[in-house]
Amino acid sequence: MSTVPKTSEGLMLEIINKGKCVFCGGCIGGCPNRVLGFEGEKPKIVGICQKCETCWHTCPRTFYDYKQMDKEVFKRVRNDNELLGVNIGVYAARSKTKDVLEIAQDGGVATTLLIYAMDKGIIDSAVVSEVQGGVWKGWPSVVSASKELVKSAGTKYTMSPVHIGLQDAVDNQRKSKVGIVAVPCEVQAARKMQYTQKAAYRLGIKTRLIIGLFCMESFGYDDLINFLTSKGVEPKSVTKFSISKGRFIARVEGKEALNIPLEEIKPYARSACNYCTDFTAEHADISVGSVGSPEGWSTVIVRSKKGEQVFKGACDEGYIEFMPIEQVKPGLKSVISLSERKKERAKSYLSA
Ligand SMILES: Cc1cc2nc3c(=O)[nH]c(=O)nc-3n(C[C@H](O)[C@H](O)[C@H](O)COP(=O)(O)OP(=O)(O)OC[C@H]3O[C@@H](n4cnc5c(N)ncnc54)[C@H](O)[C@@H]3O)c2cc1C
Repeated sequence: MSTVPKTSEGLMLEIINKGKCVFCGGCIGGCPNRVLGFEGEKPKIVGICQKCETCWHTCPRTFYDYKQMDKEVFKRVRNDNELLGVNIGVYAARSKTKDVLEIAQDGGVATTLLIYAMDKGIIDSAVVSEVQGGVWKGWPSVVSASKELVKSAGTKYTMSPVHIGLQDAVDNQRKSKVGIVAVPCEVQAARKMQYTQKAAYRLGIKTRLIIGLFCMESFGYDDLINFLTSKGVEPKSVTKFSISKGRFIARVEGKEALNIPLEEIKPYARSACNYCTDFTAEHADISVGSVGSPEGWSTVIVRSKKGEQVFKGACDEGYIEFMPIEQVKPGLKSVISLSERKKERAKSYLSA
């Protein structure tokens, strides 16, 4: 039996000091006593721990039971054919708003779903990732007007600790119906806040819509910037990053400034990502990614009843157009293949 205390001190010993912290911000935002802050991209103890254990129970890396969470979120456990987790439909989809498509990463679906949910009053705010505090540094921002959401479209490939933003939305801005956009580890922390005893329920109960992003890994901020510089690319000049067909691409005003095999940049991925077994954000209401669909479209996995309400509403009301995933190439098999690759990669790290 482990004797590690389930406190901020235990979290430091077992997760943060061992390179397993994803910097989702769950412990920082979740702590009711503001005992955790951060330095660089790592949580740090900045006060006197009251030993409430909220941080430990909120962290996605301390423990996570997929099947138990299936039951909590979807009221059933995934069946054997659901290789991407519980879902009620998979589509290739695209925003019908020109402004969003111009700046979006793929089909602009993540942004457009938030716009729809906010227009309909399903959420009163959204925690998204804006560039803040450095060139291409993603940082959470609370947005309360749907017309402002377009500004935060596009992928920042570093961690943007969404739960620091969620804490701001709930504790400081008194929002009560928050939507979040989150990578899989952040989705896990969000669900723990809702369904795990002693986790940060005060934030979980105010989280009304979870849009998950597919994610194989994210990169350390300084590492990414130094890597680009070493390749002769001025980070400030980059207008878009993307990962496509096993290549990492940086564009400057539409032209490729860097196009390299993903393997070359993998050493700069966060070590914590190696422990992750979730590529498609299996407990989101709706998951969105690029792989599987043609360029300029997003692959969308609708999972929960809430997800269905939002996706269907957005399609019916002309915010989004869609096709069944079976009608596009490369289609679902490429998503399943990456999902399995991520689970396989994690095995050796989890058993060490
Ligand atoms: C670190 C990372 C790695 C990814 N890896 C893959 C991958 O391997 N394969 C794949 O198919 N897809 C991957 N994605 C998802 C993909 O890049 C797109 O985000 C997704 O396809 C949605 O596109 P969209 O046009 O619908 O989103 P948009 O409409 O452009 O909206 C994107 C939303 O994501 C938010 N966001 C941006 N950066 C972050 C961040 N770091 N953390 C949390 N939210 C953020 C934005 O604020 C915005 O709300 C990754 C995303 C991230 C953040």
